[in-house]
Amino acid sequence: MDARQVELVLAHLCRKGLFGDVRAWCESRFDCVYVVTCPDCGCRFVLDETEFQELVERSNALQVCGVLPTAIDVRMFQPRLPFSG
Ligand SMILES: [Zn+2]
Repeated sequence: MDARQVELVLAHLCRKGLFGDVRAWCESRFDCVYVVTCPDCGCRFVLDETEFQELVERSNALQVCGVLPTAIDVRMFQPRLPFSG
């Protein structure tokens, strides 16, 4: 994916001072795809792990828009039992 995807997401959300809704789709712990949905217009941006980390860091620096790492909704493609060793 293009690294500038991060720029696109930030530009879109920060134009209105918004935080995107984040959902992570994971096949395993470090194999996730992140979908950021704009709460204003509903458009979606798909980022890989590296891009998402950069987006989180830049959002932390900005403080006023981007994504909130504490509000990530993680879904597994194949749900696994959490206590099965
Ligand atoms: Zn939007």
